[in-house]
Amino acid sequence: MRTETIPVVVVGGGSAAFEAAVAAKQAGAPRVVMLEKAPEPEFGGNARFSHTGFRWVFSGADEVRRFLPELDDQTFQKLHLPAYSAEQFTADLQRVTRGRINKELADVMVQQSNAAMHWMRELGIKWEIDSHVMIDGRYYFEPGLVIHPVGGVGGGLGQLMQWREIATRMEIEIRYESRVKQLIGNDRRMEGVAVSDANEEYDIHTGSLILCAGGFQANPEMRARYLGANADLMKVRGSRHDTGEVLMMALALGCKASGHWQGAHATPIDSTFPDVEIGSKANRYGYPYSITVNSLGQRFFDEGEARHSYTYAKTGWAVLGQPGAVAYQIYDQKTIPLLGTRYEFSTPIVANRIDELAGKIGVERAVLDHTVKEFNNAVRKDVPFDPTKLDGKCTEGITPKKSNWASPLDQPPYWAYSITGGITFTFGGLQINESAQVLNTSGNPIRGLYASGDIVGLFFHNYPSCTGQTRNVVFSRLAGRHAAAQGL
Ligand SMILES: Cc1cc2nc3c(=O)[nH]c(=O)nc-3n(C[C@H](O)[C@H](O)[C@H](O)COP(=O)(O)OP(=O)(O)OC[C@H]3O[C@@H](n4cnc5c(N)ncnc54)[C@H](O)[C@@H]3O)c2cc1C
Repeated sequence: MRTETIPVVVVGGGSAAFEAAVAAKQAGAPRVVMLEKAPEPEFGGNARFSHTGFRWVFSGADEVRRFLPELDDQTFQKLHLPAYSAEQFTADLQRVTRGRINKELADVMVQQSNAAMHWMRELGIKWEIDSHVMIDGRYYFEPGLVIHPVGGVGGGLGQLMQWREIATRMEIEIRYESRVKQLIGNDRRMEGVAVSDANEEYDIHTGSLILCAGGFQANPEMRARYLGANADLMKVRGSRHDTGEVLMMALALGCKASGHWQGAHATPIDSTFPDVEIGSKANRYGYPYSITVNSLGQRFFDEGEARHSYTYAKTGWAVLGQPGAVAYQIYDQKTIPLLGTRYEFSTPIVANRIDELAGKIGVERAVLDHTVKEFNNAVRKDVPFDPTKLDGKCTEGITPKKSNWASPLDQPPYWAYSITGGITFTFGGLQINESAQVLNTSGNPIRGLYASGDIVGLFFHNYPSCTGQTRNVVFSRLAGRHAAAQGL
């Protein structure tokens, strides 16, 4: 069997891999090779299906303007762009992970998010405005989430195509259909990888290996093993190629595990979409303006706890815990205009009366009628409804409470959407340090081994939306730079 020698090797073909490869080449690595398991038409991992919004620290409209040079002034003036501070980002991470996120790594991500975004902009990545709601002619965004890379459905493929162009220009070699089947080295020093491609098996000897092979969300056996009962049956929002074998090889080698191994990002999605590679069209994130009931006709969580960007990654789990793993979001004519364009990819179930709607979705009529009446009576009438902020318009005297945007269902026709929970990525992964070096079980860095992306274990319980892409670019940039310096 032949052996090649390559200074920097990146495992994976998603956004974390491209960012690491480009950073390594830019930092002077003479040769960088990316090994992507997927065939070329399917390259790109989860990012291919992603919306690719980025959460980052910025100072306000003037700074965002630099990312949107082609947007006309008239439209730009309509964007509501308050600053998003490092303190806000840190507080968001700490709150939703219930204080469990590694503080040093969180600080690196927060503090370097701004520089990483400008790095991408300077490399030539083009941007457009992110999801928003239009109210009185103004565009309102989720805090910290205002732009994503241009192009492609949902932006994901657009980002990847831009990265691939940059990588190709920098003479980074991308090998498709090249599965890493073994890591060569030990828990002190990484020496290379064994690769299997369409034609042959060969080894690569390297001084720096960067693991960007994603999570294990597309592996039903591992989902069942780590995430619990019936997790093998979950629908997968992203790539079929994220099957976790590189993560397992790294653990077998003596790398340290971190993150929430029974945790994963799982969101409410349309229940009628396919089982895998669903993408963002199925996202059903309007629930803060709805009531959501299970197939028994009962509410089961606080739909208005916070903005969807702080609750959606755990709400999929709430739905999966219901009978049959399905639920129904119910809206009236007052809130339907707030749903956003993705709802256009589903056909609502429509009825003029709640009991009629119950019949159509297969829920006991008397129970749904009771749930809606009880909810409507519990809504505080003295607080105005305001979707531009946490409005405090809550319910009183019912369980579960709805904490914000509690609007009585009283303007028919009523629309219902059938939802389930879809898994996005897993939270259990490898422990890295502030230079993106992978640690061994003694807590020491393994020479020549780096990691970034979903293969890193960072999150617990929940996740502030669009932190995945930010984590990717921050730690990939660090990994690439250190890997280039390490050499052979
Ligand atoms: C529908 C959807 C929407 C999302 N929206 C957002 C968003 O708006 N903002 C955000 O921040 N995040 C979002 N995410 C999450 C985000 O896309 C992921 O966190 C991110 O893409 C992970 O990047 P990665 O490079 O680590 O992994 P991936 O992009 O999954 O890439 C892993 C790569 O490793 C390859 N691979 C696997 N095993 C091997 C092997 N043995 N040998 C060689 N290669 C291998 C795979 O083929 C793949 O190319 C979304 C995800 C989905 C699915």
